[in-house]
Amino acid sequence: MEDVQIALVPCLTDNYAVLMHVPATGATILVDAPDAQPIAQVLTQNNWKLTCILITHHHSDHIDGLMMLKAASNATVVGPALDKDRIPGLDVLVADGDEVNASGLEVKVIATPGHTSGHVSYWFPKMGVVFTADTLFALGCGRIFEGTPQIMWESLKKLAALPPETTVFCGHEYTLSNARFAVTVDPHNKALEQRVRKVMTQHMKGEATIPTTIGDELATNPFMRADDPAIAERLGMVGKPEVEVFAELRRRKDSF
Ligand SMILES: [Zn+2]
Repeated sequence: MEDVQIALVPCLTDNYAVLMHVPATGATILVDAPDAQPIAQVLTQNNWKLTCILITHHHSDHIDGLMMLKAASNATVVGPALDKDRIPGLDVLVADGDEVNASGLEVKVIATPGHTSGHVSYWFPKMGVVFTADTLFALGCGRIFEGTPQIMWESLKKLAALPPETTVFCGHEYTLSNARFAVTVDPHNKALEQRVRKVMTQHMKGEATIPTTIGDELATNPFMRADDPAIAERLGMVGKPEVEVFAELRRRKDSF
């Protein structure tokens, strides 16, 4: 793995931005820009200069700090081509399967629509890190605003296919409420039980519950486990297609 320093930056109420700094080159890469002030503060504290900004989707709580940070740094801004009319300041437009050089770091773009139609995830294969924003959360998944359950399920399956040891950064600290829902639909899952205890301890200490890993999500996140017979049985949907089970999970969580 390349020598990269990673800083998780809490923003707004429950958003996360992430800064990655490469000491060898002086490059600093930001993923999503919910709010300029806390991000600028971490940059100043570390004496880092922003060189590249990756944007996952058009929602304001992911881009509101973008133009101010870009103006202050002249960083190159990368974002989904499908959102070119909804995200200001994009310099490099990307789509599914693209390989991008983010200030010297290799990034693969994975289209993960469903939460929004243009949503992308950024996978750094050499670092073993993926940024899933509002598609895959720790123990949950994003609400489906611009898509269908089928589209969202296919996006999650693409992320599920990444190496299990891949580190996952998501866009929000929603893990505790996701955990409370997860135990209602997967109550006999020992790995989930253990993880919920860990999340509750982290929450009591005021610690972040992310990053997570693809392997941990496959073992404990009901939205990644809609193809698991135990979940279908719990929902009274034995033998139903996995996408229908996934849709039912999402429906239940929407009103949980
Ligand atoms: Zn969003």
